[in-house]
Amino acid sequence: MPSLNANERVRPALAGFEPYDPAFSPCEVNLSANENTHPLPESVREAIARSLVATPLNRYPDPLANELRDELADWHGVKRENVMVGNGGDELLFNLLFSFGGPGRSLVVAPPCFEEYKNFAKMCETEVVEVWRRESDYSLDADALIEAGRHATLIMLTSPNNPTGDLVDPELVRRLLDQTDALVLLDEAYVEFAEEGASLVSWVHDNPRLMILRTLSKAFALAGLRCGYLIADPAVIDVLAAIRQIYSEDVLAQAAATAAVRMRSELVPVVNDIVLERERLARELLTLSSATVWPSHANFLLMRLPHAARIRARLRDEYSVLVRDFSYAPGLADCLRISVGTREENDALLTALHALVEGEDA
Ligand SMILES: *Cc1c(COP(=O)(O)O)cnc(C)c1O
Repeated sequence: MPSLNANERVRPALAGFEPYDPAFSPCEVNLSANENTHPLPESVREAIARSLVATPLNRYPDPLANELRDELADWHGVKRENVMVGNGGDELLFNLLFSFGGPGRSLVVAPPCFEEYKNFAKMCETEVVEVWRRESDYSLDADALIEAGRHATLIMLTSPNNPTGDLVDPELVRRLLDQTDALVLLDEAYVEFAEEGASLVSWVHDNPRLMILRTLSKAFALAGLRCGYLIADPAVIDVLAAIRQIYSEDVLAQAAATAAVRMRSELVPVVNDIVLERERLARELLTLSSATVWPSHANFLLMRLPHAARIRARLRDEYSVLVRDFSYAPGLADCLRISVGTREENDALLTALHALVEGEDA
């Protein structure tokens, strides 16, 4: 077959990208991707099933998913004009960089954080300015962020942060809005697992440069559905509405998401259980010799453990338990990220880890 060097022809900013690798291997217990592993309550599953069956597939979707927007707006106490739905939060992150980034523009991020911010920025030829978290405790350097933010177009912070689990101090958001002219995205993909009042959605009213990202992939247990949403000033939403892939949110996703959001109160016990399990798992992991576990407000824990990469491979190969390896990542030496599963899944992980760590110490 004659060969083609596509990398020579591809737009230069896009050369060299690799397909995303979730580092997935089939395992009995998968705690690697921060999914909600609890079964959906029967009532929610049935409501979703009913709405899927009632959805015709021959017609194009409503491009803006207005029924879903109204349901989300109602929940968050905002207007339809403040909400944009996307094919996962990822699509909205990309579209934000596609619209507001570009040559001569810059994005400030605070790593270790979600890698997609940087990837999408590069694809959109946007300069990335990294303000690293402090090595000792992963806390944010507020003064450095404000200084960087003064020269930036966009700032993206995650609250709770993936993978470190901490919340952004609202006072820092206040200062970023007051002391810079940047658009500030607060990514609240995991905020349902944090304490009541942790979300800054209500700030959007008075702060047109603040944007809040949310998703149904984590607390709602709908990662496979691909539905995220942005709450922002109507002027931002109008820009996104104009540049988006028209039909990226398909009719089935719109129908299922609308049903799930309507029944959101049914998910509260599931989220509460994950929060209790998170605290139990954290206490138990801390009994492993030489483990460090950071406090988390999300549905995962970051743990540092000697020989993390090897332990992770042995968990996978000998115990069929999958967790996420971050030991290769800058700033995360010997770190693993463990999603909080059901009680049984967490017990399986703990039993395996205790056996492995004691074996390695011997
Ligand atoms: C999971 C996640 C998202 C959104 O994921 P989608 O499945 O695309 O909605 C956004 N930000 C962070 C930090 C995440 O971990």
